Amino acid sequence: MIESPVGCTIDYTRQGKQVGHLSLQKITNTAGWASTFVQLAQIANGDGPTVLVLAGNHGDEYEGQVAALRLLQELEPGQVSGRVIVIPVLSKAAAKANTRNWPSGANFNRSFPGRPDGPPNEQLADYLTRVLFPMADVVIDMHSGGRSAWFIPCSHMHVVEDPAQRRAMLEGMEAWNSDWHYLYIDVNGSGLLPVEAENQGKLVITTELGGGGRVPAPVHQLAWSGLTNVLRHVGVLEGEVQTRASLGLPPAVILDGRNPANIVVSPEDGLFEALLEPGEPVSVGQPVGRLWFVDTPTRPPLELEAPLGGHVAVTKAIPVVEQGDCVFVLGQPLDRSELL
Ligand SMILES: [Zn+2]
Repeated sequence: MIESPVGCTIDYTRQGKQVGHLSLQKITNTAGWASTFVQLAQIANGDGPTVLVLAGNHGDEYEGQVAALRLLQELEPGQVSGRVIVIPVLSKAAAKANTRNWPSGANFNRSFPGRPDGPPNEQLADYLTRVLFPMADVVIDMHSGGRSAWFIPCSHMHVVEDPAQRRAMLEGMEAWNSDWHYLYIDVNGSGLLPVEAENQGKLVITTELGGGGRVPAPVHQLAWSGLTNVLRHVGVLEGEVQTRASLGLPPAVILDGRNPANIVVSPEDGLFEALLEPGEPVSVGQPVGRLWFVDTPTRPPLELEAPLGGHVAVTKAIPVVEQGDCVFVLGQPLDRSELL
């Protein structure tokens, strides 16, 4: 396999705090020998785990990007045992353009394991796959619903095969201390960043921190408190690990979204009105939302019913819906013992 073409200005073997960038090849109509910089930082001090903190995998998911930028600024070597590597905005051009995908159309979270001789998104994926993941014990990848969806703010996970990895991922997910957690499956293609890290045996912790194109104050509080508590939980950050019990909170609800029927798409174009909000309970056949028709205003709205009971987990944030767009997602409560 050829060497990665991605450059890096920081020295991973050095102690202390370094802020620098990765550089990816960029060829545009106005610049022939240019680079895209992807900023990163390393905060290293003595022995301990290596934790990779990633955000902006999808450009328009800003909650994790803000928390990671704050971590890059506030984290100092004296607080750390081991190494934290932070990449606050993986998909920078997409983040600046307020889009999920890269300007090329590439979905970075379908670019793994990547290729050193592929387009820039695959080169960056390959760098993570072959350089950063092998160095890491823990990989944190923060997502949200993006502009198009509002996901009940939570940490989530794949139910991986290996029991020890699954238990570590469950405990890592729970250390976010969110009110909800979600078990997800891949429904739209392969090549996900978390899957590559899972296949390398890493403790992978992922989130869905709201969405809808803004970073509300309570969501940032959850992003920050969850991220820092997870860093304590894995032993890289100083301080007492908090649990929901120690915070005086009831146990979190784990929603199981592994049945693909939980993902409901619209049968027609229309304007989506939510009738239930994420977190609310729902029974089979209950309308979760309805579609209105701009071109035929006298046509009664079409009710979109829940195919399964449980709770609403996601609702569409942009009311303009095309046929086939996801309008809501459900999940069913599951006892954590079923994951052990
Ligand atoms: Zn995402």
